[in-house]
Amino acid sequence: MSECSSCGNGTGGPFSEGRELVEFVSKAHGGAVATAPIPNGGLKTHCHGCGAKFTLKTFVGKCPECGGVHAVSPPRSDDPSNIQFAGKDYSSPE
Ligand SMILES: [Zn+2]
Repeated sequence: MSECSSCGNGTGGPFSEGRELVEFVSKAHGGAVATAPIPNGGLKTHCHGCGAKFTLKTFVGKCPECGGVHAVSPPRSDDPSNIQFAGKDYSSPE
């Protein structure tokens, strides 16, 4: 992944954790990253809020059971353990 003006500076970044990472990915490239499909069909994971199993298919996605917002940054999207959870009280700006 090459460097770009939206990545790697300021407070948020692709290696942030938790809600900070979710917000970073949500805003990256004007929101284009958030809805981009994760390569290879997505990442199988379980919800960090309610424990339901689901597949994160875009870099920002919601648990189908509880609506919990999860995100992974593109440079780390090869490993489900890098998925970050925004927290139960987080609601996305959409
Ligand atoms: Zn859930």
